[in-house]
Amino acid sequence: MKSCHDIKVAVIGVGKVGATTAFALMSLTEVKEIVLIDSNHEKAEGEAMDLNHGLAFIENKNIYAGTYDDIKDADFVVITAGVNQKPGETRIDLASRNIKIIEDIMSKSVAANKSAIYLLVSNPVDILTYHAVKVSGLPRTQVIGSGTNLDSSRFRYLIAKELDLSPAEVNAYILGEHGDSEFPLKSQINVAGLSINSSPDFPKIDLDTIYEQTKNAAYEVIARKEATYYAIGLSVVDIIQDMIRNQHSIKPLSISLEGEYKQEDVALSVPVVVGQNGIEEILEIDMTTEEQFMLRDSADKLRKIYSDLEG
Ligand code: NAD
Repeated sequence: MKSCHDIKVAVIGVGKVGATTAFALMSLTEVKEIVLIDSNHEKAEGEAMDLNHGLAFIENKNIYAGTYDDIKDADFVVITAGVNQKPGETRIDLASRNIKIIEDIMSKSVAANKSAIYLLVSNPVDILTYHAVKVSGLPRTQVIGSGTNLDSSRFRYLIAKELDLSPAEVNAYILGEHGDSEFPLKSQINVAGLSINSSPDFPKIDLDTIYEQTKNAAYEVIARKEATYYAIGLSVVDIIQDMIRNQHSIKPLSISLEGEYKQEDVALSVPVVVGQNGIEEILEIDMTTEEQFMLRDSADKLRKIYSDLEG
C-alpha cells in the first residue's frame, strides 16, 4: 500500500450497495481517489457526478467513472456487482449467475492489479470469496469477503438496545456463513469486557430471540424497502479504514480456510486480525461443543452449495 494518506479505492458494481459504499468512503480522509466501474457505464457516470457535487462540503477527492485500466494503482478493489434474484429463481441459480460475473471481474481486475486488497461484498459472499481466491491465484489474505461483519453489527445493535448502551461497547460475533447457517458466538459475548450476566444492573436479555432477529434482519429490511445498503456501506468503510490505519483490530470476515477450525475448501467468517496487508492473522478461538458443531454445519452447507454449482 502506498502512503496511507493517498489511498485509491475502486468500486465495481455501482448499484445501491456500490454507490452507498462510495458515499460512505468519502468520509475517510485517507481516501483521495475513488473510481466507479459498472457494466452500465452511464450509471457509474451519474453516481460520480452526484458524489462530486458534494465535494465543496468535504475535503477534495478525485471521484470518477472509469474502466479496468483505472484499477492498476488502486489499493482496494471493492466488488459489489451482481444480479438480483429473479422471480422463481433459486439461490443456487442466483449464485451460478453471480459466480460468472465475479469470475469475469476478478480476471480483468487481477490482470490490471495483483497487489490490491480485494474485498467481496456481492452475494452469496462466502461462495464468491472462495471462488475469487481460487480463480485469482492471489493469497487468501488479500481476497476477503465482508462476511458477517454486518451481521455482527446488527447483533451488537440489538443487544445494545436491550441494555441501553452503545453498540460499540458490545463485543459479540456472528460467525459462519453470511446467511441462513450463520451462528452467534454466545460463549464470548461481553460489554466492555464485562459478562452480560455480571451485574444486576444489566437487564436479562433473550439472546435466542435477538439472534433470530439478527438472522432475519436483512429479510425484514428487504420486505420494507427492497434492499439493504447503508449498513453494508459502513461495514466496508469499517474494514478498509482499519486496514489503511494498520489497526490490527479483530473482525469477523470471510476467509478461505486451509485447516483452521479443521476446515478447508470453504470460505466463511471467523475472527481475523486486519491490518495493512489485509488479513494479518486468523484467530482460532475456543468454542463450545455446540459452537464447533454450528461452524462445521455452516462449512458443510457452503461446501455443498459450491460443489452443486461446480457439478
Ligand atoms: P443493484 O442491482 O442495485 O446493483 C448491482 C450493480 O452491479 C448494477 O449497477 C449492475 O449494473 C452492476 N453489474 C452487474 N454485472 C456487472 C458486471 N459484470 N460488471 C460490473 N458491474 C456489474 O444491487 P445491490 O442492491 O447494489 O446489491 C449488490 C450485491 O451486494 C448483491 O449481490 C447483494 O446481494 C449484495 N449485498 C451484500 C451484502 C453483504 O453483507 N455482503 C449486503 C447487501 C447486499
